[in-house]
Amino acid sequence: MTKYDIIATSAMGLEAVVAKEVRELGYDCTVENGRISFKGDALAIARANLWLRSADRIRIKVGEFKAFSFDELFEKTKALPWEEYLPENAEFPVQGKSVKSKLFSVSDSQAIVKKAIVDKLKTHYKKTGWLEENGPLYKIEVSLHKDVALLTIDASGSGLHKRGYRTGQGEAPIKETLAAALVMLTNWHPDKPFVDPFCGSGTIPIEAALIGQNIAPGFNREFVSEAWHWIPEKIWDEARIEAEDLAKYDQPLDISGSDIDHRMVKIAEENAFEAGLGDLIQFKQMRIQDFTTSKEYGVLVGNPPYGERLGDKAAVQKMYEEMGKVLVPLDTWSIYILTSDEEFEKLYGKEATKKRKLFNGFIKTDYYQYWGKRPPRTDRV
Ligand code: SAH
Repeated sequence: MTKYDIIATSAMGLEAVVAKEVRELGYDCTVENGRISFKGDALAIARANLWLRSADRIRIKVGEFKAFSFDELFEKTKALPWEEYLPENAEFPVQGKSVKSKLFSVSDSQAIVKKAIVDKLKTHYKKTGWLEENGPLYKIEVSLHKDVALLTIDASGSGLHKRGYRTGQGEAPIKETLAAALVMLTNWHPDKPFVDPFCGSGTIPIEAALIGQNIAPGFNREFVSEAWHWIPEKIWDEARIEAEDLAKYDQPLDISGSDIDHRMVKIAEENAFEAGLGDLIQFKQMRIQDFTTSKEYGVLVGNPPYGERLGDKAAVQKMYEEMGKVLVPLDTWSIYILTSDEEFEKLYGKEATKKRKLFNGFIKTDYYQYWGKRPPRTDRV
């Protein structure tokens, strides 16, 4: 069985979450520089694309080597077994990045890598003229980091956050991958209530429902590597049948989302429907200030406005104070709030059990975690 070097890329701060997911899929992995690396066969590539909830995308590593000069970059790129990955008609644009490296010109590095692969393929396929590049897409990346060149092929296509269900969104939607990570960082189990009182387009409750029913987040989309000849169609079928078998559509859920803006509630409902969840999630229009519940031991995850825009800050901070008044008394609930406001704990009126630094896009945020009381031990035999 061919083993590929597979890389799941991760947003800053989520590496440990992605690594845990990779291990749960059954692959040992190592973590470095926002990259979670593991070995696997073609099925592993399909499964990683279908299942990883918090990873940005899946890449296949073709090679990694030191390169201090363009000659070295050319020769070492050419020496890699491109013909094992790229057919004669492959379309293969090359992108690049360079950090702390002697070869700092990204455009030159890209052009050299492109030329080296063209040379290699022409020799291998005995072509004299142009390569037609009218076949399947192999997006190549040359990433230079401290003079080490890493050459990879993108196996996802659109980023993995593009699940395919978000047809409508508000002004500040959270990425689906981050939303899933926020849920996975809680102690939620599908038998507990789950609430997002700032649901916007519904991303967090929808990701929670997919997790709760063990539905593969990629079930509703395609991946660029489905057109690659070395991942046969039956491998994708196998991965999709496995996902279908593992889904627990009968798992009852108690998930709800609310938002002050009734238009968002409508969009959230439509997105949940698009995600195949029907009316499994209860959405309604409500202000956080009016939040009450008679339920216990639930989990609340909120991505409120941060007040970053000029003029918004005072209103948002007042809302954080009012939020503390309704949420702090719910001592059996575990409450998780993502915000960039460094005064959050003071305004909310309670120190977090734990904080975790995360990036929401380019915004530096903290994930404030307030752990609720544990449920009383029930008598077990
Ligand atoms: N996670 C959401 C985005 C949340 S943005 C998504 O992925 O789409 C913050 C949301 O909080 C906005 O939709 C806004 O309408 C809502 N909001 C602002 N003030 C609120 C309040 N006082 N109570 C409830 N919701 C509020």
